Amino acid sequence: MPSPLRVQLQLRIVSDDDTIIRDEVILQLDKSDDRIEAVGLCLKDSKDLLGRLQHAVVEAQAAAYVNRHRRCSACGRRLRGKGHYPIVFRTAFGHVALASPRFYRCRCHPADSKTFSPPAELFTEHTAPELLYLESRWASLISFGMTAALLRDVLPVAGTTNSETVRQHLHKVAARQDADLGTGQPDLMDDGPATGQASPIAREAVIVGIDGVYLRNWHDKRKNFEVIVGKSMAEDRDDRYFGLVRSQDAAPRRRFCEVLRRQGLPADQPVTVLTDGGDSVRALVGDLPAGSEHVLDWFRAT
Ligand SMILES: [Zn+2]
Repeated sequence: MPSPLRVQLQLRIVSDDDTIIRDEVILQLDKSDDRIEAVGLCLKDSKDLLGRLQHAVVEAQAAAYVNRHRRCSACGRRLRGKGHYPIVFRTAFGHVALASPRFYRCRCHPADSKTFSPPAELFTEHTAPELLYLESRWASLISFGMTAALLRDVLPVAGTTNSETVRQHLHKVAARQDADLGTGQPDLMDDGPATGQASPIAREAVIVGIDGVYLRNWHDKRKNFEVIVGKSMAEDRDDRYFGLVRSQDAAPRRRFCEVLRRQGLPADQPVTVLTDGGDSVRALVGDLPAGSEHVLDWFRAT
C-alpha cells in the first residue's frame, strides 16, 4: 500500500506595505503513485503550474497598476469609472484574459480625451516580448508548424498557437528589426574609427562565410528568389549570422555592418570572405569594407 503524498503549491502575493493581496493554493498534486513516471513533476503538472502562476501574477500586476492610477495625479480625487472592456495578454505561459477598467479624466485639468484606461498604458503590446522572442528564435531554425508543436509540448501556450500565428509574429519581429536597421548607408570608407567606435583587428582574424540558394515557388515554378546566408566568425567573439534576399533588400551593406557592430567590430573592419564564387554572392562581396579579401572556397564550389 503506497503512502499517500500530496503536494500543495501555495501562492502568496504581498504588496509593498506587507498587505496580503492574494493567498491561495494554486495547484494540488497527488504524488502517492510509486511508478517511475510519477516521480517529480510531469509536463502537464509544469504547464498547469506555470499557467496558473502566470494568470495570478499578471492579474495582480494589472490590478496594482490600476490602483495606482485610479486617482487624479493632479488633485488626488478618485476617478469615476466608465465600465470595463476585455483585453487578452498573450504570453509564453498562456493567454491571460483581463477586464480593463476605463475612467473619466478629472475635470481639474484639460485633456484631449474624456476617458482613459490605465491597463492600455501598461499593455502597450498584447503579446509578451518573451513569447515573440521564443517563437522567432525557433521559427528561424525549424518550420513554423514544428515551432508551434514544440512550444505546445513544453509550455502552457494557448491552444490557438499554430503555424499561422507563429508566422505572423515572426514577420512582426522581422519588420521591427528591419526598421531598427534604418535606411542610411554607413560610411565604410572612413580613414579611421569614429569616436567611441571599436578599432579594426587583423583581416585574418575575421572570417565571413557566405552562401546563396535559390528557392522556387512549389506551384508556380517560374517564380523563384535567391536567399543569401552568412556567418561571421571573429577571434574571441561570438559567431553572428545574417540572411537576406538581395533582390528585395534595400540595405544589404547596412545589414552586414550591423553583424560586425554586434561582434564589437567597427563598420570598416576588413574581413576574409569565403564564397563558392556564385554571381550574386560575389556582388555582395562588393558591399564589404575596403581591404577585405575574397577567397574562393573550392571545397564548397565543387
Ligand atoms: Zn484632478
